[in-house]
Amino acid sequence: MFESIKDEIILYGKIAGERNLTPGISGNISVRCGDKIVITTSGSANSFLNYDDLCVIDFEGNLLEGTNKASSEKFVHIEFYKKRPEIGAICHFHSPYLTSFAACGCAITEKVLPEIIYMFDEIPLAKYALPGSKLLAQETAKYFDKYNVVLMENHGVISGGKNLKDAYLNIELCESYAQTLVLSKILGGAKILSDSQVNEIYSLR
Ligand SMILES: [Zn+2]
Repeated sequence: MFESIKDEIILYGKIAGERNLTPGISGNISVRCGDKIVITTSGSANSFLNYDDLCVIDFEGNLLEGTNKASSEKFVHIEFYKKRPEIGAICHFHSPYLTSFAACGCAITEKVLPEIIYMFDEIPLAKYALPGSKLLAQETAKYFDKYNVVLMENHGVISGGKNLKDAYLNIELCESYAQTLVLSKILGGAKILSDSQVNEIYSLR
C-alpha cells in the first residue's frame, strides 16, 4: 500500500542526506494519507531508506502495516496533523545549524531576511522533553497552530508542509538561514530590519 508515497519519502530522505540535513539515523519523515500516516521506522537512516524502513500507523499511533515499529517521534507527527488539517507531510531533522540554535536554547526571532520574515515570521523554540515522549509532543504542538517550522530544545527541528516537497524545502531554507545567522555573527552581527521595514514585508502577505 502507498507505494508512490513511500517512493517519495525515500527520495526526499536521500536528498536531505546528501545535503547533510539528516545525519546518521537521526530524524524521521511522514506523509498523511487520509486517516493513516506513512512514517519512517525507529532506527532507520533517512538517507538510506527502503520499503522495510517505512510503516503505516493510525492517528492513535497503532502499527497497521510494516515489519518494524514506527519512529518513536510518531506522537509529535500525529499532534501536528491533528492540529493542522492542511498539513500533508512532516520532516523532523537534526540539521546542524538549526540544531545549534536548538542546542543553545535560542529561538530564531531576529528580523534579518525578508524572505524568512514573509514565510515564517520567526522560528520558535519548543521546551525540552525526553525524545519519543508524549510530553515532547505536547510541548512542541503548542507552536503548531501558528508555525510550520519549530525548533525542539536540545534536539532538532520539525517542519510541516502541504506536501513533502514543501515540508522539506522549509527545513532546507531555514537551515540555510540559520547558517547565515551564525556566519553573520563572525562578521560582526547581522543588521536587524526596523519595525517599519518588517511591517512593509508583512503587508506583502
Ligand atoms: Zn529527533
